Amino acid sequence: MPQNRVLDPKRRTSKDSLAPFSPKGHSSPAALTGDAGRASEEGFRTLIELVPVAMYSCDADGVIQAINQHAVALWGRTPTVGDRDERFSGACKLFSADGQFMPHSASPMARVLRGETLDEHETELLVERPDGTRRHVIGRPRAVKDEHGNIVGAINCLFDITERKRAEAAAAHLAAIVTSAEDAIASKTLEGIVTSWNASAERMFGCTAQEMIGQPITRLFPPDRLDEEDLILARIRAGERLEHFETVRVTKDGRPIEVSLTISPIRDSAGTIIGASKIVRDISERKRADRLLTEQNHLLELIAAGRPLDECLIDLTRAVARLEPRTRAAVVLTNGAGTRVQSSHAADLAQSFGAGLTDAPLSDLVTETGGTALASGRPIASVDLAHDARWSPQVRDLCVAHDILASHAAPVLGPDGVPLGWLVLCFDMARAASDWELRLARFGTHLASIAIARDRAAQAVRESEEKFRTLADNIPTLAWMGHPDGHIFWYNRHWYNYTGTTPDSQEGWGWQSAHDPAVLPRVLERWRHSLATGEPFEMVFRLRGADGVLRPFLTRIIPVKDEQGQVVRWFGTGTDVSELRAAEEALRAANQRMDEFLHTATHELKTPVTAVQATLQLLERRLQRLLSAPPQSRRAASEALQSPMQLIARSQQQVRRLTRLVDDLVDAARIQADKLEIRPAPCDLAEIVWEAVTEQRAVRPERAIHLDVAVPEGQPLPVEADADRIGQVVTNYLTNALKYSPEESPVEVTLQVEGGVARVSVRDHGPGIPTEEQARVWERGHRVPGIEATGEGVGLGLGLHISREIVERHGGQVGVESVVGHGSTFWFNLPLSDAG
Ligand code: ADP
Repeated sequence: MPQNRVLDPKRRTSKDSLAPFSPKGHSSPAALTGDAGRASEEGFRTLIELVPVAMYSCDADGVIQAINQHAVALWGRTPTVGDRDERFSGACKLFSADGQFMPHSASPMARVLRGETLDEHETELLVERPDGTRRHVIGRPRAVKDEHGNIVGAINCLFDITERKRAEAAAAHLAAIVTSAEDAIASKTLEGIVTSWNASAERMFGCTAQEMIGQPITRLFPPDRLDEEDLILARIRAGERLEHFETVRVTKDGRPIEVSLTISPIRDSAGTIIGASKIVRDISERKRADRLLTEQNHLLELIAAGRPLDECLIDLTRAVARLEPRTRAAVVLTNGAGTRVQSSHAADLAQSFGAGLTDAPLSDLVTETGGTALASGRPIASVDLAHDARWSPQVRDLCVAHDILASHAAPVLGPDGVPLGWLVLCFDMARAASDWELRLARFGTHLASIAIARDRAAQAVRESEEKFRTLADNIPTLAWMGHPDGHIFWYNRHWYNYTGTTPDSQEGWGWQSAHDPAVLPRVLERWRHSLATGEPFEMVFRLRGADGVLRPFLTRIIPVKDEQGQVVRWFGTGTDVSELRAAEEALRAANQRMDEFLHTATHELKTPVTAVQATLQLLERRLQRLLSAPPQSRRAASEALQSPMQLIARSQQQVRRLTRLVDDLVDAARIQADKLEIRPAPCDLAEIVWEAVTEQRAVRPERAIHLDVAVPEGQPLPVEADADRIGQVVTNYLTNALKYSPEESPVEVTLQVEGGVARVSVRDHGPGIPTEEQARVWERGHRVPGIEATGEGVGLGLGLHISREIVERHGGQVGVESVVGHGSTFWFNLPLSDAG
């Protein structure tokens, strides 16, 4: 029974033949060589045991004769030695290196036994183990021949190269990554000599691997940065890693590029630093974008700060040149109609360039096709200006004289899309604009458009400001203008006149000096709120005049906003509302007087009515009593009627009073409505006065009323007058004199004539009227406080008002002379008519 011969040193016994050859012996070297063969077999056994690789032997038929422990480990199984069913290999399955199934009979061992000579690569194969794993193996089958050259067997060594293959695959993978990476990847020695150089590095720097490997890396350093290498190498030697180190390198053709470097030390298997790997990223694009943004912000700030247009545009051309040093830029603007060059702005071009263009009609600068191009508002690229027939010789000469051999003109458009001019990029050689320059052209035209739009808006504001100034300087209202932040930069003349201040002290927030300190905090709070929100401001507060008097002003401040809703100006006005306040006060007083008047009127009207009612009731009772017991005699009847007659007289008196009050009210209402009727007719003033006096004497027989007519008796005083109305005036003066003076004092009425004017005066010895009240007694409804009427009660304060109206309507005047405590004299004049 065949025996498994495994070369296990631990299990070795004397029975364990390690002979690699079949027990049949005929193909065994030992069998062939006798003792000497045995000795050689022993040597072979020792050898097969010692070799550090998998090894086995087969006889001429391929039957496995001997195997070592490594072969068992490689195959993952122990084949049965001498088993004719297991020939050529102890592996479960075999595959060629490219994965094709390989029958054992086609294995290298089988082929060697058949006498074939194998190429090296043909000995590479895959061994599959029982667990399905595969090992990559190189076989070294060697035929064993007898002295006749017949193949009697073979020995095979199997080298497991699985790990090596894996490492190779990983390295290939890595190489593929390095080759295809976007970033440049290179390595160098600690002396700075390039040892590897990938495809991106070739692209980025324009040097092939062949050109660079073996060369110092400093070939790519700009001269002013050579010392960076020592620094980098020092850090690498110290085992440090440099990450995202931003610097500048130069390409093969001398063009600087901005790069970000990541450099790491390379160590050998013992951990010793032997070089450095470099990953280089081209950050020129990012840096450019950063610079573009910085320039853009700078220009937008200039524009927003309201710098003059020329300054903004010049700075714009400077920014373009900074962003691309090979380019000079100019902004050329046309007039409103787009027919002429109006101005040109360029930091890097001689004045003579702008001067050569300014005021030139556009039609002179271009030929026919150029004109079409200009009018189209599209960019115009001239790659060879000196020979570009679209420009007139004048333009071409001007450009060449200023070293402009090519240009790219991009239109600057207004908000409505109409071209306002061009941003011209000027090149000092005949060439087209690069992508970057085209981007700069877009950047430049965009900013120029913004600057021009801002300038026009500012111009509009300036014009409206100018109008406002002219207007505001000529009105008696306070006015001022402020910046969006509330800084007041202009006040009108009236402000300085009223406050007595000077421009220096008021600029900005100096206006506070004119304010009432008590209210100022509230004013500031409201003003700051408006500044923060853009809401209009309205408030009434007092401002101190140059005379020190605080007067109320209605202050309104409104914002002027741009299209984006941003405040561009504040316009403020302050209106003196003292008079308005006084008028309001007067109205309030008048209302109060009206209330008092209504109160008095109600009372005055009610009193006589109540009195008449009471008297009539009494009268009724008396008469009823008379009816129920009629007097017997005539005398008794006349006695009995005495009392009712008195009652009737009292009622009549009350009715007269009522009538007078009602008449006064009606007259006052007519005056108010300008409807008081005066019907003048020739009449005798002396008679009118005499009648009025006579009437009052009859009504008040107890009072002494003197009449002194200073004209010869019987001589008439002819006037053109409404006799009833003039009589009403005399009666009013007379009743007032009687009413406001003590019962026992006399009243004197005088009629004088002087220079064609008659004067009627009524003098009493009453309380007299304080000087300050004398003018007011003529006002409608005014009653002098503290003056009480004797007898029939106070009036409504209408009589004198009506009297003045009547007299003045007759062309006369009224007046009063009075001393408190000594009585008053009320008088009026009337012109005598010619007949007199
Ligand atoms: P009234 O009906 O109240 O008398 P008038 O218009 O006639 O109205 O007079 C206005 C006010 O002038 C009176 O209420 C009174 O206070 C004052 N007044 C008028 N006449 C005299 C006078 N002779 N002596 C003092 N005060 C007078």
